[in-house]
Amino acid sequence: MHDFDLVVVGAGIVGVSSALWAQKRGLQVLLCDPNAPGSGTSFGNACTLATYAVLPVNTPSVFRDLPKLVFGSESPLSLNFAHALRHPLWMLSFLANCRSARSAHIARQLAGIMAHADAGINPLIEDAGAEDLIVERGQMTVWSTKAGAEADAGALAFRKAQGIPFEPLGPQEALTMEPGLKLPVHSAVHFKAARSVRDPQELITRMYRRFIALGGQWRQAGVDETRAHAEGVEVCVGDDRVNAARVVIAAGAHSKSVRGSGAERLPLGTERGYHLLFPEEAHRVSRPVGWAEGGFYAVPMAQGLRIVGTVEIAALDAPENQGRLRYLAKMGERMLGPLPEPESQWLGFRPTMPDSMPVIGQSPQSERIIHAFGHQHLGLTLGGITGRIVADLAEGRQPNLPIAGFAPDRRFV
Ligand SMILES: Cc1cc2nc3c(=O)[nH]c(=O)nc-3n(C[C@H](O)[C@H](O)[C@H](O)COP(=O)(O)OP(=O)(O)OC[C@H]3O[C@@H](n4cnc5c(N)ncnc54)[C@H](O)[C@@H]3O)c2cc1C
Repeated sequence: MHDFDLVVVGAGIVGVSSALWAQKRGLQVLLCDPNAPGSGTSFGNACTLATYAVLPVNTPSVFRDLPKLVFGSESPLSLNFAHALRHPLWMLSFLANCRSARSAHIARQLAGIMAHADAGINPLIEDAGAEDLIVERGQMTVWSTKAGAEADAGALAFRKAQGIPFEPLGPQEALTMEPGLKLPVHSAVHFKAARSVRDPQELITRMYRRFIALGGQWRQAGVDETRAHAEGVEVCVGDDRVNAARVVIAAGAHSKSVRGSGAERLPLGTERGYHLLFPEEAHRVSRPVGWAEGGFYAVPMAQGLRIVGTVEIAALDAPENQGRLRYLAKMGERMLGPLPEPESQWLGFRPTMPDSMPVIGQSPQSERIIHAFGHQHLGLTLGGITGRIVADLAEGRQPNLPIAGFAPDRRFV
């Protein structure tokens, strides 16, 4: 006999969604995390249910822009060279996935799962009584240069072909919708179907409470090892051993730390991101606004205004990069005008595979070990549908959407 039908490792948006979907289906679930639910990367993001974001970071334009991105003094990307030299295969694989055929393949895969994103998260929002946390004002992306807008024209055409609704805006229309913008606006787009979450951690906390109310169990402890055998899987939770029918590894960027799960063999890296919080400034924008060339967002949320984003390729344990925080402060002011001192700053870890696709499926190690990590820039958006897929796999049935492209044993190129 098993202690649990499913043990969920990690209580971010992906883990809590998996736990709640599985518990709703009548499985007996144990959720484990050494930290509070929703306090990892799922806490500090740009709060956007970004159903329009189906283009990977890997695009052919990376080849053209790489020197400027890596060596530019005002770049949204920062690369730690020592880290890159320690992980040459990850870097090469990332670049190989920027080739146009690969990039188009990845975009089709992301668009395929994205089409189900709302169906994955909406029932959880409703179940958790969290409708008040959801804002339906869309997202605005702004280009400040003609060159920037032209470079992204292909991406917009792909979205149009996918049926993603958006409204192109001229500078005056953009400024009428967002009068707080102070940057030069060349053009903008309003992604009307995008929604934002006033407080992502509060959403996850309410989902967690619903999970407990349905009979789910919680252990505030880490899992460092799983041992699959013919009848089940032994999960090392803190100092205890738990016997489960299945386990799901949903520890975000830390998933490689779970020995015996197969995750430790996968090329999981991290794109580090940052935010600054300005408590009194939420009124500066009325919806998440992204500055395309700057690679960051201004987001009004429950705690104030978040200036959030940028990508830093560096190790999980590298110290906070003050240069990234200065970049956000400077560019935030260029976007919105003078800002006060931020109340707090945050560093988080996007879990990223070199092909920018999540890993969702059974581990090559054992069909009893399910992988659900690597959601890079899109975990808040795709966490709900990933949880529904995990619940299907935990029940031993095939999900009703194709997931072969996300298999842990795919070729990462
Ligand atoms: C700056 C920034 C902006 C972003 N903006 C958006 C956005 O607007 N929209 C969007 O969709 N996505 C966004 N993302 C991405 C999104 O936040 C992530 O993809 C998502 O939070 C990942 O969720 P997760 O559950 O996989 O990981 P996490 O939220 O990191 O959760 C993993 C959990 O696992 C736990 N854990 C670690 N090791 C163990 C262990 N050994 N045992 C048990 N538990 C363990 C951790 O404590 C943590 O709680 C953004 C990310 C960043 C950094």
